[in-house]
Amino acid sequence: MTPNYPPEPFRIKVVEPIRLIPPAERIKAIQTAGYNPFSLKAEDIFIDLLTDSGTGAMSQHQWAAIMEGDESYAGARSYFRLKDAVDDIFGFKHFVPTHQGRAAENILSAVLVKPGCSVPSNMHFDTTDANIRARGGRPANLVIDEAFDPANPHPFKGNMDLAKLKAFIEQIGVKNIPFGMITVTNNAGGGQPVSMENIKAVAALYHAYGIPFYIDAARYAENAYFIKLREPGFADKTPIEIAREMFSYADGFCMSAKKDAIVNIGGLLALNDETAFRQVSNELILREGFVSYGGLAGRDLDAMAVGLYEGLDEDYLAYRLSQTAYLAGLLREQGIGLIEPPGGHAIYIDAGSLLPHIPHGEFPGQTLAVEMYLEGAIRACEIGSVMFAHPDPDTGEMIFPRLELVRLAIPRRVYTQSHLNYLAETIGKIARRADQLRGYKFTYAPELLRHFTARFEPLK
Ligand SMILES: *Cc1c(COP(=O)(O)O)cnc(C)c1O
Repeated sequence: MTPNYPPEPFRIKVVEPIRLIPPAERIKAIQTAGYNPFSLKAEDIFIDLLTDSGTGAMSQHQWAAIMEGDESYAGARSYFRLKDAVDDIFGFKHFVPTHQGRAAENILSAVLVKPGCSVPSNMHFDTTDANIRARGGRPANLVIDEAFDPANPHPFKGNMDLAKLKAFIEQIGVKNIPFGMITVTNNAGGGQPVSMENIKAVAALYHAYGIPFYIDAARYAENAYFIKLREPGFADKTPIEIAREMFSYADGFCMSAKKDAIVNIGGLLALNDETAFRQVSNELILREGFVSYGGLAGRDLDAMAVGLYEGLDEDYLAYRLSQTAYLAGLLREQGIGLIEPPGGHAIYIDAGSLLPHIPHGEFPGQTLAVEMYLEGAIRACEIGSVMFAHPDPDTGEMIFPRLELVRLAIPRRVYTQSHLNYLAETIGKIARRADQLRGYKFTYAPELLRHFTARFEPLK
C-alpha cells in the first residue's frame, strides 16, 4: 500500500538548481573526501540529507522580516520582536540569542559544569555530549530501553527511564549533578518524541532533589505535534498550547533555532535563575556578542521571531510528519530495517541489520552512507560507531553504541514527493546487494566530534 502523502501547504516561488553528476565523478569526489560525506562539496550532491539543521526553506514572511532587521548594536527592535515571540511561546524570565545550539550548550556548560560532575538526559546529542565532556563533565544517557529496540512501536521512545534516573541521582549524588536535561525530540535516538507525562515526571524527579531541569529544545514543535497525535488528552490542543505546557515544567532550555524555528542560523538559551543568567550574560559577551544579539545579525533575530511561529503551524506540522512517514513507508515496503515508528525530522536506517557481516569497528553506518553517495549522489549522516564509539574514561576499553544507524534528515519545506521516491529507489538498489559491501577503517580521527573531519579507507 502506498503511504499517504498530503499536498505541501505551500507553493514554490524561488528555485535552487541541483545536478546529478555521473558515477565516475562521484567515485572521485568521495575518494577526495576521505570517504567522509561531511567533506564532499555540496555541488556534487543531488539530494542532501546530511542534516535538517539550517537547511530549511524560509518563507516569504521570513524574507520580508529580514528586510526589517535592525542592526543596532544594543537594544535593537529585532531583539524585542524576538523577545516577544520567545516570551510568548516559552515563558522564561531571561533569554539570550546565540549563533546556534552548540553556542548555547557551551555557555550553559561553562556556567554550570565542573570537572567530574555528571549531567543526565534521555540522550544527549553529539554537540551537547561534547560540550559537557569538554568542561570535564560526564554526560549520561538514561532513555527507556524500548529506544534501543528498532522494531518496538512505543509511541514515545524518547522518554526518560524514571527508575534509571532516580537510581542514577542516588548513586552519583545531588551535589555532583549541576543540572539535568531532556532532549525533545530525541535526535540521537531516532527523533523520537517525549510524552508530556514523562516531561512532567522528569521535572518532578529533578526538582525533588533540587536539580535544575533544562530542555534541549531543538525539535520542540515536532515533539508538541507528536503529543497532540499520540497522547490522550491533547488532541484538541494547539501545538503552541502544548509547547507552553512542556516548557512550564522546566527551569530553562537551550535550542538550535536551525531546526524547528526554520532559520539558516540561530539559537536560544533561556532560564529563570537570576545568578546563572548574570554568568550566562558574561560568557555570552565574552564569546558570542552583546546580550541583545548573541553573535547574530539583527535580521537573523527577525527571521527567527517569525520562524518560531511558522514551525508551530498545524498544517505545516501535519505535512512535515506525514512526509517523514511516507519515506519510511517506501523503505519499509522494500524490507529495509528502520527505527520504528519513524521520528519527526528524519528516517533512521538500521545499518546494523542491513549489513550484519560488518562489525561495529568497521563502521556499517559509514559504509551505507558512502554507498548512498556512490549509487545516487545522496548524502546522509552516520549515527553509530564513527560518531559515538569512545574509550571508557576509567578502563580505556572501547565502548560501542548499541545501534549503528544512518540518518536521512529531511530539510524543512525543501524536497518534494518525487525526491523522496528517488531516495527510496536508490536505497532499495543498495539493499538488494548489501551482502557485497565491505567496511572502512580510519586513516585520521580527532578526539572530539570526530565524525565531522575523520578520513577513511575501504577495507579489502
Ligand atoms: C542540532 C542540535 C543541537 C546543536 O545545535 P547546532 O545549532 O547544530 O549547534 C543540539 N541538540 C540537538 C537535539 C540538536 O538536534
